[in-house]
Amino acid sequence: MVRAWVVLWMLLVLLSACQGDTSAGMTAQPSPVPSPLPTLTSTPDPTPSPLPGPTPESPPLPPRPVYTIRATIDYAAHHLGVDQTILYPNRSGVVLDRLVLAVVPNLWPDCFFLRQLQVNGAPVAGYTLQGQRLEVSLSAPLSADALARVDIVYELSLPAAEQPDPSVARPRIFGYTARQMNLVNWYPFVVPFRNGEWVLHDPWAYGEHLVYEASDFEVELNFRDATAPVVAASGLAESEGAITRYRLTAGRTFALSMSHDFQVLSGSEGDILVSSYYFSPYQQAAQAVLDATLRALRIFQEQYGPYPHKTLAAVMGDFNDGMEYSAFYFLSRDFYNLYRPELSPVQYLIFVAAHETAHQWWFERVANDQALEPWLDEAFATYSERVFYEHFAPELLPQWWYYRIDYYQPQGVVDIPVYAGGGFRPYTNAVYFRGAYFLENLRKRMGDEAFFAFLRHYLTEFDGKIATSSDFFRLLRQHTDQDFSDLLREYFSKQ
Ligand SMILES: [Zn+2]
Repeated sequence: MVRAWVVLWMLLVLLSACQGDTSAGMTAQPSPVPSPLPTLTSTPDPTPSPLPGPTPESPPLPPRPVYTIRATIDYAAHHLGVDQTILYPNRSGVVLDRLVLAVVPNLWPDCFFLRQLQVNGAPVAGYTLQGQRLEVSLSAPLSADALARVDIVYELSLPAAEQPDPSVARPRIFGYTARQMNLVNWYPFVVPFRNGEWVLHDPWAYGEHLVYEASDFEVELNFRDATAPVVAASGLAESEGAITRYRLTAGRTFALSMSHDFQVLSGSEGDILVSSYYFSPYQQAAQAVLDATLRALRIFQEQYGPYPHKTLAAVMGDFNDGMEYSAFYFLSRDFYNLYRPELSPVQYLIFVAAHETAHQWWFERVANDQALEPWLDEAFATYSERVFYEHFAPELLPQWWYYRIDYYQPQGVVDIPVYAGGGFRPYTNAVYFRGAYFLENLRKRMGDEAFFAFLRHYLTEFDGKIATSSDFFRLLRQHTDQDFSDLLREYFSKQ
């Protein structure tokens, strides 16, 4: 049993992890006026190469959007100069007269500076940038199955990730601390176009609000600093002179974290390289994170299906938060602080590591609308902690149910949007914890074989796509004849 004081400590940090966080909010402190553009050695070619046209020799339309991002980073000055190209295949089935991009850094004042914007090699007819929404008018309509090329040059003057004013809460991982720079949702990306609408929801004090199409990424970093920091990324590094290049195929979002103080432990599960980035003196905890992540990868590949990438970075976040990204996740430093190797492995460091790893299936392979239907990744990731322990240490399952879930006496319906959570704790109680109970009871009702067959089918059916609750239940009904209407009444507001 975990001692009571540990439980109390755990309570103190419970408001953390991608399960959310209620720590100090992020008021953006005005950043210094950014330096002029000496970093933009990669100013776009004034005569961009011709677009692929509908000629026989044209390359095929890419299956997904392709992001090529060249960033010159001044780590010491917290500044980036970025030259970015997006190849956007219009897979919507309709003609588009505009593109809508999320520019999340623009939620911070004096952070994002747009220097150049072109579509198909010409200056844009018009655009608006309000908050995180960049709406670009197209001078010629973009037909279905045609390609648009967006060239965008911008600078980022990063905010401090920790801010003194707790009254405003927005995502606060982005930015820098005294020893870490975190680039998450840091580049403009085209938001999904679904059911005739561009999907870009408002940010919220807790939880996530973005929805991502699967995309391909090539990211190049070039540091202006005399000594480059250690970099954790959503991909494997290849060096070419002063440039480090990363590639990620069919990923949702490309994250980076860097520090001069990072230390790294690595291990492999099959051909997947897992790296655990940490700050001294947390080597023992970082090893536990590595071991848990490798174990979780093995278990989830057996139970669900293949991990989609070749690397996975587990990164100690220098803030009270944790979060999943593609082939990358953060764990709060508080979990490392709390970790006691002599105690039960039912500890936050371990089960949140399993939780974040599970998001590589439920978020990464199968995405969802994180703002409107967060249960589709969060209940799955939480329930995956149970799957992790049942294969690793089944005798600890009662302990996990108690410390992780029952202790909070969770209430509420599972299918709420993040905006209806009523605060962080009620939100996670409903979406994460009641969601885990729904899946547990569904599994009991269906039986293990049908339940996991359904999950594997759901994974392959919606791999690389954005699933909805309707998709979930439509497919579920193909896998069971059992009546589960009572579970729907108990856990859901509709269905
Ligand atoms: Zn989560």
